Amino acid sequence: MKVIKFGGSSLASGEQVQKAINIIVADPARRIVVVSAPGKRHKGDVKVTDLLEQLAKTVQNSGDTSALEDEILGRYQAISEYFSMSGSDVLSKLREHLQNLEHQSYPSSEHLFAAFMAQGENMNARLIARVMRHLGYRARFVDPKELGMVVSGSPRSAEIREDSYERIGKFQLEPGEIIIVPGFFAYDEDGNYATFARGGSDITGSILARGFDVDLYENFTDVSAIYAVGPDVVPHPRAINTLTYREMRELSYAGFSVFNDEAIIPVIRAGIRVNVKNTNDPDAPGTMIAPTKDVKHHHLITGIAANDGFTALYLHRYLLNKEVGLTLRILQILYKYNVSYEHMPSGIDDLTIIFAKDQLNASQMSAMTDDIKAEIKPDRIEWFDDFAIIMVVGEGLYTRNDLIARVMDKLAEQDIAPTMINQGASRISTMIGVDSDRALDAVRAIYTLSCEKKEAQSEGAAR
Ligand code: ASP
Repeated sequence: MKVIKFGGSSLASGEQVQKAINIIVADPARRIVVVSAPGKRHKGDVKVTDLLEQLAKTVQNSGDTSALEDEILGRYQAISEYFSMSGSDVLSKLREHLQNLEHQSYPSSEHLFAAFMAQGENMNARLIARVMRHLGYRARFVDPKELGMVVSGSPRSAEIREDSYERIGKFQLEPGEIIIVPGFFAYDEDGNYATFARGGSDITGSILARGFDVDLYENFTDVSAIYAVGPDVVPHPRAINTLTYREMRELSYAGFSVFNDEAIIPVIRAGIRVNVKNTNDPDAPGTMIAPTKDVKHHHLITGIAANDGFTALYLHRYLLNKEVGLTLRILQILYKYNVSYEHMPSGIDDLTIIFAKDQLNASQMSAMTDDIKAEIKPDRIEWFDDFAIIMVVGEGLYTRNDLIARVMDKLAEQDIAPTMINQGASRISTMIGVDSDRALDAVRAIYTLSCEKKEAQSEGAAR
């Protein structure tokens, strides 16, 4: 049995939904289907989830919701018209469902947003199940509640509870039926809607893959492979045929958006392979994400990602290294403001704390600065906003001891000075801080190395 997940652009219009259905029914093992909300049909279009976020804001401010409601439902109407189903009651049911939500009360504003934003997937899964039945297939909508998916944590960045897996595993599919499950959301133990982080339908697919213990998780999107660097950075970059779980995790953390970075965790635990494929080119093999033992590496560097979503706090004080408990005191300040950090490279007199920008706001930054000044009395304290991280990733990285030197040479040729270098403990990634305006130049420079094959370099090169 396989879990098959379709992203938003794969379900953005009737035509796209038809392609997805053709793919589902082409393989009888594709029994568990996870769907996203309709995404962008073209550049400049708006995703249904973003429209629902606007709707939630309007509801919160007691504004007039009718235009947004029409726009959202119009997306589903276009899909149902494509399949000549406009006469059915499906759309009036969706409208009723959306309007019911507007009249409910929520424990918090976050809960309200989660409830609305979940509807993109919820309504799409209901509609697609109806479309498939209309076309003569045995398809059934299944709510995450029926599968026993219970989440904890914050309503818009929920985490699956471990006990959900056992319940999912007990769910019985009828012989020959295909179940259509909405991605991105589940319910907390009080029955409130809660969503995963944005792009979280990948997470649902991964949870179901583990829960049902399937043979393969197929993740259909709009690219024919994961590429060594983004196609917007280098034209026609090298496609990656196979990728290890940990390579994928490092790359998605640093900006590869093809697969959600949290989504890999459940499949890692279960050792299930993930095949990223293209709805518009389903015969292309795509990229297989698999355990290390199943992946043969031909290239030294598998991929290079850049992420400029960071901000860094630099602290300088002489003899920083000698003071017992100093880092602990800094971390206590972060804890007080409920802020997590990403990296903390340090030297004898200096410490840099790197934060994800979306974790911080201006008032937290200034309050933390004041507290650190009072508590640590640094000689210098400064925020750097133009901080980007380049992640050079590859299981082959540690097989060559001159590789980092060559990466640095490539940067020097472009006159790019690293602001930080961090060789990950896993030894499959090297993180290089650069000024954000040079981040893409850095990726291009290093990319020239990533096309070199391992075999070609192994002879006599390793010292
Ligand atoms: N629809 C959600 C989003 O836009 C989840 C997803 O597409 O995976 O983030």
